[in-house]
Amino acid sequence: MIKINENFNKLQASYLFSDIAKRVTAFQQANPDKAIIKLGIGDVTRALPDACIQAFHAGVDEMANDHSFHGYGPEQGYDFLREAIAQNDFQARGCDIAADEVFVSDGAKCDSGNFQEIFATDITVAIPDPVYPVYVDTNVMAGRSGEASDGRYAGLVYLDGNKANGFIPDLPSTPVDLIYLCFPNNPTGATASQAQLQQWVDYAREHKALILFDAAYEAFIQDDSLPHSIFEVEGAREVAVEFRSFSKNAGFTGTRCAYTVVPKECMAYTATGEQVPVYGLWNRRHTTKFNSVSYPVQKAAAAAYSEAGKQQIKALIDYYMENAKYIREKMQALGYDCIGGENSPYIWIDAKGDSWDFFDTLLNQAGVVCTPGAGFGKCGEGFIRISAFNSLENVQKAMQRISQAL
Ligand code: PLP
Repeated sequence: MIKINENFNKLQASYLFSDIAKRVTAFQQANPDKAIIKLGIGDVTRALPDACIQAFHAGVDEMANDHSFHGYGPEQGYDFLREAIAQNDFQARGCDIAADEVFVSDGAKCDSGNFQEIFATDITVAIPDPVYPVYVDTNVMAGRSGEASDGRYAGLVYLDGNKANGFIPDLPSTPVDLIYLCFPNNPTGATASQAQLQQWVDYAREHKALILFDAAYEAFIQDDSLPHSIFEVEGAREVAVEFRSFSKNAGFTGTRCAYTVVPKECMAYTATGEQVPVYGLWNRRHTTKFNSVSYPVQKAAAAAYSEAGKQQIKALIDYYMENAKYIREKMQALGYDCIGGENSPYIWIDAKGDSWDFFDTLLNQAGVVCTPGAGFGKCGEGFIRISAFNSLENVQKAMQRISQAL
């Protein structure tokens, strides 16, 4: 008899997006003439940069001829992309990262979800709250938690984000082994300073822990004093792995390309305390289970680092950040406390009450869809997330409607 992985039974169904969809459909049926504006999604809305599209086309054309065709590529990604990443995203910012420490993949979702697999089941895992739900769910699937009760799984250590700490969690009070951090944060938009990241790196070094740092939104950082990578922090090479993505900067959400950086100094330990390089474990896992990203997509991603690509990506980021600024200023003018929107495309708004009530008010009174904060963890209750991923025209229209409704 085929038996299931019982850990899947522990997973709390995420009713968030189906609940949102149901409420939106009901509103649409009751108001067929009202055009809904969606500011709830974390998906980009603008086309790929032209430099990426040109390289993508050229890559496809190469596949059309026997002499230039590419079959399986290296599982870790082509050198041309790994080198461009190491130089532009790390060495140019003073981070000591080599091309062969970059593992190209088809998504930061898969990488941040899969990485835990190379560690023991009985480690203690610390996860921020609120945060991108993939970290919690994949650890539950792997059997690192007990049952859920009142929105939290037994056995996981939650790192609370709240107004008091500016949604930058404090260090855990009990020892942990694996730590997830996400800055700029989804959903709060909070971004950690160099000194704040240094505390985490120091903690990890002291406790022989490992940090999994999700920097999917680093391109939105505007404040030059803020680190874009955990490898800008001293000692991070020994205790941190970083996830990056082309999804949000270059609009690859539907094209799929991302990467994970694993420094060769990072160590994990056997049951008897012997050191094992995390690099070797991940390389083994990655090459066994993954056959890399298609050649044309890697060509398109590499074009993000051309001069034209950089300029076009900057223009995309500037566009979304204008939207973010507009949303933040309007909400503040209406008397709502906001976090984020300055170094991230998300604005995290204190709903001054129940997040679903606020969601309903925005939907029913303004025809605008946001995301209730409770969907990102217990600490998200009482907040909503508004996303800057839409056209400026829609953002302005949405904010005008919200101003009238509230
Ligand atoms: N990490 C965070 C924090 C995200 O918010 C998202 C997407 O919303 C991802 C990773 C997924 O990135 P990718 O499209 O590369 O899978």
